[in-house]
Amino acid sequence: MHMCCAPCATFPVELLKEKGLDVEGLFYNPNIHPYEEFKKREEQVKKLSEIYKIKVHFLPDFEQQLWEEMKDKSKNRCGTCYQKRIARLFKFAKVEKFDAVTTSMLVSPYQDHEKIKELATMYSEKYGIPFYYEDFRVGYREGQEKAKEHGFYKQRYCGCVLSLLETIEQISAEEKQKRMVANG
Ligand code: SF4
Repeated sequence: MHMCCAPCATFPVELLKEKGLDVEGLFYNPNIHPYEEFKKREEQVKKLSEIYKIKVHFLPDFEQQLWEEMKDKSKNRCGTCYQKRIARLFKFAKVEKFDAVTTSMLVSPYQDHEKIKELATMYSEKYGIPFYYEDFRVGYREGQEKAKEHGFYKQRYCGCVLSLLETIEQISAEEKQKRMVANG
């Protein structure tokens, strides 16, 4: 299972383990900016692997160049971002001879679910490895609650520099609104 972050991976991991599947994780998220944030999320996935006693493979690629490029490809930056991570996931699974592949990105109601599904289906055919699809979104809230109980750090933005800037803008707009309401 590709793991984008510990809170998102919580529900899918629990579900697949309940089904008796032997799950291993792959942390490959070179989209995360800045480096401190990347390390923080990586750390939380290590914590998850200890709690659930599952092996997680870490590809320590913090690719500054990638998120620099994303600034230029802003029109389709999420598509590029999904594609890069999913392609790497299937390549890894092929080399390591895994039976099937999935991603915790399928849990989030804030991601382009259909695009992720489409790309994973495409790479599944390309690499000849089954894509384990499940609409994990049904357990999004439950997973977030469980993640809170585990004390996982929960980020307020998706990952790249643009999503960080968008969140900062949104927070300042909300604060401005609150001040306006408070001042009548
Ligand atoms: S918003 Fe999220 S999915 Fe989209 S490019 Fe940024 S990190 Fe990737």
